[in-house]
Amino acid sequence: MQYIQKQEIQPDNWDDWFKTANGVRTFDYLKAQNNGSDLKSVREYLIKEQYYLCAYCQSKITIDNSSIEHVIPKSLNLELSTNYHNLVAVCKNQIKDENGRLHCDKEKGSLPIVPYIFYSNSDVNIGVNNNYFRASNDGSIITKDNKNEIEYFQIKSFVDILNLNHTTLKNKRKSAIFTLTSVYKKLSEHQKNVFWITKLNTFLANKSNPYRQFLLIYCQSKRRNKLKQQ
Ligand SMILES: [Zn+2]
Repeated sequence: MQYIQKQEIQPDNWDDWFKTANGVRTFDYLKAQNNGSDLKSVREYLIKEQYYLCAYCQSKITIDNSSIEHVIPKSLNLELSTNYHNLVAVCKNQIKDENGRLHCDKEKGSLPIVPYIFYSNSDVNIGVNNNYFRASNDGSIITKDNKNEIEYFQIKSFVDILNLNHTTLKNKRKSAIFTLTSVYKKLSEHQKNVFWITKLNTFLANKSNPYRQFLLIYCQSKRRNKLKQQ
């Protein structure tokens, strides 16, 4: 659920990376995969572009535990299968949750989603909220309810199809929140007043912090509540 800011034009080497052994630029990802294209460089580029976080769940990824994901599935649009603006890096090693489900691309398969990861208003900044999601204390990602029916359904589907409330992900986010609130509880009233804005700034600055977007949303809402009390 992170916001991925793609460059307007594709990277300089993009076409070269998708050339097959006989020097043909392929627009068919499976052909590229089978005919010697440099997909490792593609993946390396995407991982760096996303500050080493999975495009969907924001777990930490490296070259060894990531794969390339087509946001609009290959089966729905072949031309987009090698298009820079449709490719992201995602996490790879996953375990099934108690419902037998995985998460991110492995759970999504060929299902279509609204690509909120490319929508700039899914980003958080000082005083600017994420437009689609809320962060719950138990680590769950919740759909904002001030939406019309269709939008609400699309946002909820995004979370469900990618299974972003997979038990492991939820617990990791919950534990990150717990770390924050444990510190907060021990602070003086004066320190509490600046705690959430300080944390917000920390996560804004650290673009490779796992579950960053969730934590930004969380800190933002805590900060707002604190401001209301003052
Ligand atoms: Zn992931």
